[in-house]
Amino acid sequence: MRIGIVGAGVAGLVAAYRLSQEGHEVDVYERWPGLGGQGATLDVGDGVLLERYYHHWFTSDRHIVDLWNELELGPIEWQPSSMAFFVDGKSRAFTTPLDLLKFSPLPLLDRIKMGLTVLRLQRAGKPVEAYEHETAHEWIVREMGERPWTKIWGPLLRAKFGSRAQDISMAWLWGKLTMRRRLEGKEARKELLGYPMPNFEPLYVALRDRIEANGGRVMIDRPAARISKDLVITPGAPQSFRRGLDPREFEPEGEGERYDSILATVPNDVFLELLDDDAREALAPGYTDKLQSIEYHTAFVLLLELDRQFSPFYWTNVADPSLPFIGLIEHTNFISPAHYGGRRFLYVSNYLEPHEELLTLGPDELLSHYEAGLRKVNPAFSKEWVKNRWLFREPAGQPIVTVGYPERIPPLETGVPGLLLANTTQIYPEDRGTNYAVRLGEDAARRLRALTPA
Ligand SMILES: Cc1cc2nc3c(=O)[nH]c(=O)nc-3n(C[C@H](O)[C@H](O)[C@H](O)COP(=O)(O)OP(=O)(O)OC[C@H]3O[C@@H](n4cnc5c(N)ncnc54)[C@H](O)[C@@H]3O)c2cc1C
Repeated sequence: MRIGIVGAGVAGLVAAYRLSQEGHEVDVYERWPGLGGQGATLDVGDGVLLERYYHHWFTSDRHIVDLWNELELGPIEWQPSSMAFFVDGKSRAFTTPLDLLKFSPLPLLDRIKMGLTVLRLQRAGKPVEAYEHETAHEWIVREMGERPWTKIWGPLLRAKFGSRAQDISMAWLWGKLTMRRRLEGKEARKELLGYPMPNFEPLYVALRDRIEANGGRVMIDRPAARISKDLVITPGAPQSFRRGLDPREFEPEGEGERYDSILATVPNDVFLELLDDDAREALAPGYTDKLQSIEYHTAFVLLLELDRQFSPFYWTNVADPSLPFIGLIEHTNFISPAHYGGRRFLYVSNYLEPHEELLTLGPDELLSHYEAGLRKVNPAFSKEWVKNRWLFREPAGQPIVTVGYPERIPPLETGVPGLLLANTTQIYPEDRGTNYAVRLGEDAARRLRALTPA
């Protein structure tokens, strides 16, 4: 049977691969002239590939690690994580329980209480539903006090959810804290982070090659411009990506192709814009409201190539609100610069509301805007250290998981017979990530299979 898949990110490629393995004829449409979606790489020069947005795996990320191994794609490098908080004018290590005990911005009693509260939560073994009715802010202030929120949890959530940190559901934080707890033995004692060597690209290439070997097509720079109720995908002309994300801006090209079923893996707003009027009307009652009720924040990430090391840490949460960015991720403190011919890379991260003015800045203006903040973290920093810079914006970078989120999640089945949607808003209560994109892609393939006999 013929299946059309919109999006060649991890979810779309995995679904297409599984379906093609069973003899279905799959076509993948991708707007961007490359594979991997939010996990895509760029050539930073000399053929060296690096992800546009910082990426690592946790040891609990079994789905993607299993897939990587199934595809026989070389080693995964596992390294101890090294995390810090920049607070009260200084970066302070924050990786081990001992770091927590030494974390002087919090009084000792607060530190002990905080550690015990986290342990209690992990041991309570309650289901996620027990944490869905309140915000993480309310829970933390009640269980640990105001200071741990101000100095630690608020900044941690701000690093993910920007201005909406205070509204995030406790269920989301519960997912983060209990996920690690499920690890046993050595894994639970020391957190390791994983990175596929030499980068994420071989995963996308291997999936594409296998889909094509199984008779499918993976078409990059070939967006879907329209989806109709009778399951026709009308493609947009090449180079449509230059017109942005809204498919209504793309020049439709040709008659379109009819499929037995379609899986869209695009963000909620893009999905709605893809549907023609009849398809929109055929959505299940309340489906459009669900799609529109979930907010996203834009990931706005400046990638710098530096001529020297910036800090000793891989991941620095910026807990000082006077700094205009929320995280510093020094990739080459995780993966050795030796893998990049001695070159060093630092991501300066922000999550912003869609209309924030900062998003209008170009890379050089943004670097100037960030310069004083970077110097607060490392007083020796100078723009002369910067050899190259790239700036990336992902409008659907982070779904905002507020109280009541589960009721807003759109089901994969859209109500239009044969049309499914699978995207990051459906990852819950875990944090969205490539691992869960694999799980989602496989789940979508299972559901499509049920609709569509081979
Ligand atoms: C800043 C940042 C840091 C992250 N860090 C990590 C990390 O450390 N570890 C981790 O595992 N994950 C991380 N993630 C998350 C991870 O990248 C995503 O969860 C995952 O890649 C989502 O995959 P997806 O296939 O669901 O969606 P996407 O990757 O968004 O794929 C959707 C695809 O649809 C395409 N598309 C859009 N419109 C059209 C159209 N009209 N026609 C055809 N195609 C279209 C897009 O171009 C895209 O390729 C991070 C994400 C960001 C933004």
